[in-house]
Amino acid sequence: MDNYTSFKSVKFDRGKNEFSRELKKAVSQYFKEKGIHQKGNWRLYLKSTFFLLLLPTLYLTLLFAGLPVWINFILWAMIGLTLAGIGFNIMHDASHGSFSTHPRVNRLFTGTLDLMGGCGFIWKQKHGVNHHTFTNIEGLDDDLDIQPWIRTNVNQKKFWFHKYQHYYSIVLYSMTYLLWVFVQDYRKYFSGRIGTTRMKKMRILDHIYFWAGKTTYLTLFIVLPVLQLGLFQALVGYLIAAMVCGLLLAIVFQLAHLVEDTQFPLPDSNNKIENDWMIHQLQTTANFCTQNKLISWFTGGLNFQVEHHLFPGISHVHYPAINKLTRNICAEFNIPYYEYQTFNAAFRSHLSHLKVVGRFSS
Ligand SMILES: [Zn+2]
Repeated sequence: MDNYTSFKSVKFDRGKNEFSRELKKAVSQYFKEKGIHQKGNWRLYLKSTFFLLLLPTLYLTLLFAGLPVWINFILWAMIGLTLAGIGFNIMHDASHGSFSTHPRVNRLFTGTLDLMGGCGFIWKQKHGVNHHTFTNIEGLDDDLDIQPWIRTNVNQKKFWFHKYQHYYSIVLYSMTYLLWVFVQDYRKYFSGRIGTTRMKKMRILDHIYFWAGKTTYLTLFIVLPVLQLGLFQALVGYLIAAMVCGLLLAIVFQLAHLVEDTQFPLPDSNNKIENDWMIHQLQTTANFCTQNKLISWFTGGLNFQVEHHLFPGISHVHYPAINKLTRNICAEFNIPYYEYQTFNAAFRSHLSHLKVVGRFSS
């Protein structure tokens, strides 16, 4: 059977959606009462300006200030941090259409992904469709596929080395950005597939954006630094930036879906998922550390991943308010809501999950 067909035909149970109706009603009521729209506000634009000015400042200082090598390496690490900040706060909201009320502005800022070495076209399908619709469903959610290196859930093939995955995962996570930019995007581009699903056909313009983005990125982050700083310093520095960025991106996304509480439902023999889509999102997603203002600020509200998955079209600046509403309605309907109070608790839970899955024989 063509996997594309199975991807399209997987359906959620629509018979159990009283909870979803109540939640949507409460959230839209909240925006109505406050008299505000659901997209980004001045706080988001101030933060975006900060990140978008910080990146060229760091970059130009690195290339032209002639500072000692060890300071340059710190600047590279800060570039990695800033790229992650741009990804979390600007690109992610824009690609979901929640950065601005104007679709053109969202399209423009989705382009920051090309600045990070990615590809907006591929990301929109990998993240916006596969991951957000079929969260934690093996074979359909591409974020689960770190195979064979990491077994993210028991429905995947097990290898002997998985029993150590809770030890080596962190090293691997620091490589995820490099893998994404230099391997996975090209694999998807040339195969026309995302995991087991077929990608939407690219238009000529999409091909041009893909190659223009990749070439600009390579020129900015590899070619020019090599010419200005020398091969050794440029490559080691770039590696530092890529590892910092990769580690941050991977950890934030892993803590949201791969922890002890989150589940990995499979479609039944009729290709049906047992629950309504919103309940499915609550079963497969967890929050962490929502009281920490700095983490909320830097991760673009991705520590409120539950709210993000329930309402991807709402900007992350509104998640703290929606969080309270969602928790109340979940309690009313007796639906579990997963949230870890501290980063440590979430991270420990992630490692325990990897340990259990790495040893579990299916
Ligand atoms: Zn998202």
